[in-house]
Amino acid sequence: MRAGGLVILPTETVYGLAGDASDPAVVAAIFEAKGRPRFNPLISHVADLAAAEKIAIFDDRARKLAERFWPGPLTLVLPIAPDTPVCDLARAGLDTVAVRVPGHPMAHALLARFGGPVVAPSANRSGRPSPTNFADAVEETGVSAAAALDGGPCEVGLESTVVALLDEARLLRPGSVTRAEIEALIGPLAEAEADAKRSPGRLARHYSPKAPVRLNVETPEPGEAYLAFGPGDHRWNLSPSSDLREAAARLFAYLRDADRTDPIAIAVAPIPGHGLGEAINDRLKRAAGFVG
Ligand code: AMP
Ligand code: MG
Repeated sequence: MRAGGLVILPTETVYGLAGDASDPAVVAAIFEAKGRPRFNPLISHVADLAAAEKIAIFDDRARKLAERFWPGPLTLVLPIAPDTPVCDLARAGLDTVAVRVPGHPMAHALLARFGGPVVAPSANRSGRPSPTNFADAVEETGVSAAAALDGGPCEVGLESTVVALLDEARLLRPGSVTRAEIEALIGPLAEAEADAKRSPGRLARHYSPKAPVRLNVETPEPGEAYLAFGPGDHRWNLSPSSDLREAAARLFAYLRDADRTDPIAIAVAPIPGHGLGEAINDRLKRAAGFVG
């Protein structure tokens, strides 16, 4: 990574394609490897809060959230620190920066040794479901990586929650740190602006397999692959015990696995909308091509 190489990096959310956030050539190589639109800013990952305060300005709300949820699956969008090392390209030219301290021990070890901020967008090609295990990550972007770290299957399986703390606190992307948990700490969250450019994870079609995706299906049609939820004997049951955490952790791997069987469509059972269900339904709507 110090020599400018890209590294496939396990985190507790999804596998990332990681590189030096201060080097525009490295960041350009990541955009290239993902086929990612240039306007999409990347998250900078650091080992701890002290390292985060070198790249971004923390107010009281930011510090409260960081102390409660870091290391963990929460990203904060904050104003840049005066001498932020995160290069312009990584921020898509914005005067704000997205920052996170991941909890996965392998990610932490790498970040602590590297020292500086590391961008690590999901290791998939742009628009495809995020990889949540080593094999899927290597299949997606392994060809562009100088090294790949196998940290096992991702515990959370969904991308981090993204909260912007610029004026009003806004939820830019739901995730496994839930709206309710955040509001309990810093008060009500405003709705994210419709302007997708500020958070392209909000683009209507995203996280998509090749097959069309049909939602809220109780009974699949013949030829459809079925992602079930709740009791029953199915090849892809997101959670026989109706556990949202288990369903989140399996979602992307099952979408990919079902897609490999070339079904006429992937039908998905109804998933409750509370708690972690908000993030799961957000990703499913985008996989199906609907705005969330
Ligand atoms: P990913 O790296 O694929 O997990 O996506 C990062 C998410 O954070 C995307 O939804 C970005 O648009 C969002 N993001 C990153 N930096 C910023 C920023 N400065 N302002 C707003 N959103 C951001
Ligand atoms: Mg992504």
